[in-house]
Amino acid sequence: MLVDAIVEAIRLAVTRIPDDVVLALKEAYAGEEGEVARFNLENILKAVEIGRDGSIPVCQDTGTLTFFVRAGVESPYLRGLEGAIFEATRRATEEIPLRPNAVDVMTGKNSGDNTGRFVPVVHWELAEGSEIEIAVLPKGGGSENCSALAMLTPSEGWEGVRRFVLERVRKCGGKPCPPVVLGIGVGGGADQALLLAKKALLRKGEERHPDERIAEIEKEILEEVNALGIGPMGMGGRTTALDVKIEVAHRHPASFPVGLVVQCWASRRAFVEIKPDGRVEVWQ
Ligand code: SF4
Repeated sequence: MLVDAIVEAIRLAVTRIPDDVVLALKEAYAGEEGEVARFNLENILKAVEIGRDGSIPVCQDTGTLTFFVRAGVESPYLRGLEGAIFEATRRATEEIPLRPNAVDVMTGKNSGDNTGRFVPVVHWELAEGSEIEIAVLPKGGGSENCSALAMLTPSEGWEGVRRFVLERVRKCGGKPCPPVVLGIGVGGGADQALLLAKKALLRKGEERHPDERIAEIEKEILEEVNALGIGPMGMGGRTTALDVKIEVAHRHPASFPVGLVVQCWASRRAFVEIKPDGRVEVWQ
């Protein structure tokens, strides 16, 4: 039953773009005047519709399946959960189907079922209580190639964050299949900054950071990225990014780490909740 629920969440994630992302894509379409930008957004919205109506993946690159598990330590379903995630990944690859994307780093041989050493990627967080929440994030490779880390000096600070993000997005141009969603992690160490950046992609469109100062920076970076004019699929236009999400952690006094994770227009996600009595709920 647990494996079934995770397969269902993977299916939902890869076939149905969340409503808030669709809304942002429609708003982007309405805000574009250029013929090419509108044409590209029209095609993206068509792909979204075909995926939803036909229950087929919205993009051929079904990505690397990444799971964020928030596990209540008293849940009776904790044992064997990682095995269930791997099994669900194998089944989803065959049943949906998903493109197999896990290859050996030495030989390049594809495992054929999206599993391998440390793949799918599973991030664990222990919590009080007996509920388990699993977030599924299928992460496209083209956009992941534009993700990056900068170890800034504290004196570069938030101005440095802006410069780094804008420079990276400018350099990547159309490669990450814009309009993108940018996850930015600031603080912690190198590892935590990137993890926070990826986790930020799970936040819904309308959810701004609860700290108003950070929420303001999210809006400012979004505006500056869109002023670059890269546009949908890199062919020019007003919409280079649909959104910017920042997460922060305390940092070492000598470091100012910034992780940037770039997500493409196919900003996919789904969630599974396992209740203490074994009932499961899948949603987006
Ligand atoms: S970057 Fe995203 S939209 Fe582009 S091919 Fe990969 S998954 Fe598909």
